[in-house]
Amino acid sequence: MNTAICACGQLEVHVSGEPVTVRVCNCGQCQRRTGSAFGMSTYWEPSQVQDYKGQSKTFRRISDAGRSMEFHFCPDCGGTVYWFAEIVAPLVGIAGGCFADYKFPAPEAVAYAPQKHDWVIFPEGIRLYESTSIHEL
Ligand SMILES: [Zn+2]
Ligand SMILES: [Zn+2]
Repeated sequence: MNTAICACGQLEVHVSGEPVTVRVCNCGQCQRRTGSAFGMSTYWEPSQVQDYKGQSKTFRRISDAGRSMEFHFCPDCGGTVYWFAEIVAPLVGIAGGCFADYKFPAPEAVAYAPQKHDWVIFPEGIRLYESTSIHEL
């Protein structure tokens, strides 16, 4: 059992087991959503997600691939904790950073590699994607 939680602790979600996949995305939307150099996305089967606690507001946008993404963030501190992306339904997306767990599994792939900040160096062997094919993943 692991808990993803926003900065103020109001919004949280519990998961069990290991994520289906862990991805990093360097696109501008992920940079703005996180306020960081890239977003770390973890994806889970709905059966792995035990419960959702707290209140969230939602931000919906259309991805570059033309699919809807609905992000749930804490109305108090603003942190995005989880989301539902049409292209990977029924998987649940959870912000990797919200686990604040430095032992969390490393990402398997990187999206929008050409948009990464110059100082960012991803590990050897990690799959790099130009853009959209795995954007939502
Ligand atoms: Zn919060
Ligand atoms: Zn992105």
